[in-house]
Formats: sequence, C-alpha cells, structure tokens
Amino acid sequence: MSDTASKDIVIVGGGPVGAAAALGLARAGHGVTVLEARASMLADDRRTLAIAYGSKVILEDLGAWPEAHEVTPITNIHVTQRGHFGQTIITAEDAGVPALGYVMRYNALVEALARALNSAAIEVVTGAVVERVVSRDQDAEIHWNQGAASCRARLAVLADGGRELTAATFGTPEESRYTQVALVGQVHTDQPHHGRAYERFTPSGPVALLPFARHYALVWTGTQEAVEALIALPEAAFLARLQDYFGDRAGQFLDVSGRSWFPLTLKVVKQVTRPHAVCIGNAAQTMHPVAGQGFNLGLRDAAGLTRVAQGVARDALGGSEMLARYVAARARDRRAGINLTHALVTGFSNHLPLLPLLRGQALTAMSLLPVTRRALARVMMFGVGAGR
Ligand SMILES: Cc1cc2nc3c(=O)[nH]c(=O)nc-3n(C[C@H](O)[C@H](O)[C@H](O)COP(=O)(O)OP(=O)(O)OC[C@H]3O[C@@H](n4cnc5c(N)ncnc54)[C@H](O)[C@@H]3O)c2cc1C
Repeated sequence: MSDTASKDIVIVGGGPVGAAAALGLARAGHGVTVLEARASMLADDRRTLAIAYGSKVILEDLGAWPEAHEVTPITNIHVTQRGHFGQTIITAEDAGVPALGYVMRYNALVEALARALNSAAIEVVTGAVVERVVSRDQDAEIHWNQGAASCRARLAVLADGGRELTAATFGTPEESRYTQVALVGQVHTDQPHHGRAYERFTPSGPVALLPFARHYALVWTGTQEAVEALIALPEAAFLARLQDYFGDRAGQFLDVSGRSWFPLTLKVVKQVTRPHAVCIGNAAQTMHPVAGQGFNLGLRDAAGLTRVAQGVARDALGGSEMLARYVAARARDRRAGINLTHALVTGFSNHLPLLPLLRGQALTAMSLLPVTRRALARVMMFGVGAGR
C-alpha cells in the first residue's frame, strides 16, 4: 500500500495495547488503520497475564473480554518474604470488588481483541513491519516493509512494545537494567488454588504463582545464569528447588511444563509525544512484571488517549493541544505505576541488613490495616487519578 492521502489514525503494533486503542479510537468516530508485524493478529506467546479488575471493565466495554473458560479470577493475594516474618493477604472483599484480577494467556487476550477488531471492521494490515515514523508539523509519515509502502496520518500511535522504532521516533528511553530475568511456566500442586495468588519476595528476586485453570502460572525471577540453570534441571530437581524456595503454602508441587524466560528491564520514554505522534503501552514504559502492572497501565494509556480524542475534529487530531491534554491526563498514573513496580523490585530484592526487618514491618502493618490494603489494591486495579 502506498497511500498519499492522509489517514486519521495509524496504530503501529496490534498487540493488546495497540488493538485496544484501535477499538476505542474507532468508536470515538475516527478512521483507524492497524499495522502489525506478525503474519496474523494471533500471537504465539508463553506469557500469562494478571489483568486488574479495572482493565476488565475497559475490555468488556470494548467488547474484547475473552470467553469465561479462558479466564481465572483472583480472589485474594498472599504476600510474604522468604526467610523473614511478615505477611499480608489482600482480598477482593477488602477492595470491594468481585475479584482482584483475572488470569489469562496473552494469546487469549490478543485473540479476543482481534475478534473485536474484526467485528468493528477496523482496517488491519498484517505482515507490516513499520521501519520509520516521521513526525512532521502537519501530520506523520509511516513507512513499512511491504514494497516500501508508506502513508500519512493525522496521528501515528506507536504501540510496538518498546522496540528500536520507539527509540528512533521518541529518543532513547531511560533504562535501568535489572540483573534479573523472568522464568515462566505452569505448575500443578496437590491442593486446589481457590483463586489465591502468591507473591513471595526473596533476596534474589520475587516469585509469583497465579491461579490459572486447574494449575498455577509461575513467574520466578533470578539472574539469567540462575534461571537458565533452573530451566535445564530435570523436572524433579526443579520442583524440589521451587518447593524449597516457596515452602508448602500452596501445597506440594507435582509437575511443571512450558519453562522459558523473558528479559526484564525498566524502560521509560521521557517525552511520549512528538507532533502528530504518541507512544503508549510498553512502547512508553516497559516494566518488571512483579506487580502485574505493564498491560494494565498500557490499557489505561489506550483508554486515556481515547478520552482525549473524543469529539476532536479531524484537523485537530494529533495537534499540540490534544497531545498536551493526553500527557497531562496520564502523567500521575504513569509515574505511580513505574515507581510502585521499581520500588517492589529494588526494595524487596537487596541484601542490606535492616531491610528485611522494615519490609516485615510493612507487611505486618498492611495485614493489620485494612485501609492500607484497600488503598493499595485499588491503585493496582484502577491506577492513580483515573477518576474512580
Ligand atoms: C513474563 C511476563 C509477565 C507479565 N505479566 C504481566 C501481568 O501479569 N500483568 C500485566 O499487566 N502485564 C504483564 N506483563 C507485561 C505485559 O506483557 C506488557 O505490558 C504488554 O504485553 C504490553 O502490550 P503492548 O501491546 O504495549 O506491547 P506488546 O505486547 O509487546 O505488543 C507489541 C506488538 O507490536 C508489534 N510490533 C512490534 N514492532 C513492530 C513494527 N515495527 N511494526 C509493526 N508492528 C510491530 C508486535 O508484533 C506486537 O504484536 C508481563 C510481561 C512479561 C515479560
């Protein structure tokens, strides 16, 4: 496609955030085209995501909530630190919602969004690897691989997950490299999960178990060397190591499947807009999965962009006034999500002698103070300053 006519909005990346933005912006009355690098809108990814209650509300509104059998509700979260006192349990009741969150495969989420895009007859071009986005005074120019295709748009939305294209368009993001990577897999135990998720902080990094179908999705962070060694272990030896790390609070681990790993970094784009261009989701901020905030925050970026684009005339789309409103609307929530995640990773993973004591006190205080638990749960579910 080489299209000299200017489109309203072009979204680069049809992952979960780009697809959600496409649905919202099309509903706000704008013409939307999605350019996705994969050969199909369906993904083949091993991630399991915990989706906050607030995100469910947004996805349902977009008609993109997966089928019931693909989703497992989290009714409570049990938080502890290895080798030290202190624990807290955050419940859905504390937060006044039916479930704190919902666990699903990345693939199921992407599939539900792809179905909704199809029903809304939104233009989607697959196999389109965008190579360059040029922000200009009047519009943005987008170039991709299919026969040197290009088009212009009033607004280019980068939702490419934070790859080289984002850096080339918005500048090199600020990056803190964690010394950890995340091992993911599925584990069965000899006890039913009853909707309980576990978050356990250890000096070498957090371990999370998320209830999913009849088993748990495991996210276990550690150095790349340690994680690769864990993946190479025979199943019985791996389960013994996990049991030792995690204790028996979830029962005895029986089997593990699908072990693989993801790199972890914190990448934050300082200035998320350029004339007629904006980056959202992981393109704007890539975070450690410890607090399950990455997609949830990205989805709120998409919802925020939809809100500011509501009622904006075509010739003002992507203009400085609209983009300034977007930046202002998202600043607090973005900062809170990034800071909370970074504090959890660094605050619970280092070895200073007094820290375990302070963390233990913090967890104990949370277990005694329902108001604190409720406040934390609501921030994790709805974000900050989202008007809920
Ligand atoms: C192990 C792990 C566990 C996680 N758990 C959670 C969790 O429990 N809860 C949570 O909220 N978040 C979690 N996250 C974070 C979450 O996965 C991300 O925040 C989310 O996937 C971001 O969505 P996105 O659409 O911005 O980017 P992505 O999911 O990366 O999608 C980007 C899309 O853009 C496409 N693309 C890339 N480059 C181009 C290009 N040049 N041209 C066209 N298309 C392109 C890609 O093919 C892809 O489809 C986790 C992450 C990891 C690694």
